[in-house]
Parts: sequence; structure tokens; C-alpha cells
Amino acid sequence: MSNHKINIGNVELISVSDGTGDREPTFVFPDSDLAIWQSEFSELLDDNNHLHPRYGSVIIRSEGKLILVDTGLQAPGGTLIKELNNNGVAPDQIDLVVMTHLHPDHVGWNFSNGLPTFPNARYLAPKSDWEYWVHPDIYKDAEHIVNQVLPLENLNLIDLMADEYSITSEIMTVATPGHTPGHVSLLITSRGEQGFVLGDVAHNPAQAHYTDWNPVFDIQPELSRQTRHNILDRLESENLMVSAGHFPTPGFGKFIRSGNRRIWQGV
Ligand SMILES: [Zn+2]
Repeated sequence: MSNHKINIGNVELISVSDGTGDREPTFVFPDSDLAIWQSEFSELLDDNNHLHPRYGSVIIRSEGKLILVDTGLQAPGGTLIKELNNNGVAPDQIDLVVMTHLHPDHVGWNFSNGLPTFPNARYLAPKSDWEYWVHPDIYKDAEHIVNQVLPLENLNLIDLMADEYSITSEIMTVATPGHTPGHVSLLITSRGEQGFVLGDVAHNPAQAHYTDWNPVFDIQPELSRQTRHNILDRLESENLMVSAGHFPTPGFGKFIRSGNRRIWQGV
């Protein structure tokens, strides 16, 4: 059974998810080739050669604060709230909601039925991502910004994170732009141990080796590719424990070297 709970020093991380999607791999990764998926990553494909990316979130306990990183998609049948409850977490206990970026599958449960799903939380978004999305030319085509993001400002629930923002003294943001202009990851440091919440720097374990493969959802593809190389090189060389939201359950693992390839080793 995979481990849904890990500790990094005094910090506890619990993997939860809002369900999974169903995608053709060559749609998500236009640079990729179905033959490679079938020969090298068959364990990631179903019988129809489709991927099922997880809509993963992570609950973090740090310095007495209960933090939820990303809020899923809230598609019909979305499981995020049920999974929080299964882990003994009620939505009104969440102190901070942290968004790695403002895509629809990361802000989906900010509101439910027009009310904040996490009524006692401050919501944190990367400042540069906010500035990109909260522009009339952009949000006119982005329903999720209108429904799940902009109301946070009207209700005075949002705080914007500048680069290298300290969420607690154990959790810092790291600017990892490209997938979206203000995308951030989180670096956790506690009692000499470090871990990394990846966000959408990578979407699939295949990118451990095929690091050039960009997902079709990237807003700045060249920058995304450069960021992915820099970050995965660092995570491999520093042997850091990683939480990867779209990777298979539970999304905890490491990027390690195996022969001439970098691979993802899940816990
Ligand atoms: Zn995503």
C-alpha cells in the first residue's frame, strides 16, 4: 500500500486528491510519441492508451497551521472534500489555502455554491500569477478566474505572495515560472530535512527522463522547459523528497538516477 502521509522534519504532508482526468498522452504532451509511451511507460496507460492524471492536493501541518496546497477541479464527483474528511480534516479547520498557480484544476474548490469552501482560511496566490490572470483580456475567457479567484478579492480573503514568500518559517515559495507566468513551488525545511512541493513543473513521471516534453497547457513553453530542467536537476542532485500533484497516487517520491536515465521513484 502506498504511503499517503510523509514527514519532513516536524512538517507533516498528507496526499489527497479530487479525482483523476482521462487524456490521450500525445494530446497532453505534443512533443511525445505514443510508441514511447507504450514501450517505456505502459504502467501509466490504461487499455485505451490513455493517461489518468490525478488532481492532487496536499495537506501540510506546519507550526500549528493547517495548510491546503491547491484545491482541485471540482468536476462532478470531485473527491477533495471527502478525502479531507477521511483524513480527519474539516474544511473549516484549514488556516491557509495556497495556490501554486491559477489554473482551473488548482482553484476548483475555492468556492462551493458561491461561498468560500474553507471559511476560516486566508487564501494565498502568487502575485505574478494574479497579475497575469486578473486582466480583463485574460479572465474574459477564463470562467474559473471569474468564479473561483476574483471573488476572493471582493471578500478580502486573498493575500498575494511575492517571490520567496515565507508561508511559515518552515515553508518558502520558489519561483518556478513558465507553466504559468507566476507559478510557484514550495520548499520545506525542518530539522535538517528538506522536501519540495512541485506543483505543475512536471505533470507525469515520464518527464523525469523526457524532461523536454512540455504539456500543452504551458503558457510560456520555453520558460517552462528551462524551469523543469533546472528544478528536476536540483531535486535529483539534492535527493529531495517531492510531492507531485498530477503524478500517480500518492505523488510522493524522488527523482533518482538509474543507469543513464533519471526516473521517478514513488514511495
Ligand atoms: Zn494542473
